[in-house]
Amino acid sequence: MRFKASIRLDCLDCASARTMTGPQAVTAFGSCPLESAERRLRCSRCGGRSARLTVLPPV
Ligand SMILES: [Zn+2]
Repeated sequence: MRFKASIRLDCLDCASARTMTGPQAVTAFGSCPLESAERRLRCSRCGGRSARLTVLPPV
């Protein structure tokens, strides 16, 4: 994952969305690949596990 990219988390359960910067994502997920990070994710709002990760290109 590139450091300048940011990541958007969309919860499919409660439709909350939040954005993380690259460094925040590294802190949260370590170096594990996005696919497994996605599976580990829990929505901070509803606790659901249907979060979708989208990598946003750097602006
Ligand atoms: Zn949710």
